Amino acid sequence: MKTILVCPVCKSTEITLDTGGITGKYMCKNCGYVGSFVLELSEGEYKEMIEGEKMTEMENDKKS
Ligand SMILES: [Zn+2]
Repeated sequence: MKTILVCPVCKSTEITLDTGGITGKYMCKNCGYVGSFVLELSEGEYKEMIEGEKMTEMENDKKS
């Protein structure tokens, strides 16, 4: 099953291995996050997360 690497900070999928993979750390091209921890999601899980974020935004709009 294909997994998608997702930045835990900005939820971007623009994840690359830092310094050619020597350190084993990941780097986010979108926000510059560097760390050994990234989210590994299946395509389905990723879609659910994105849709969940949208729901949260809509709820926030209602409150404000
Ligand atoms: Zn990021």
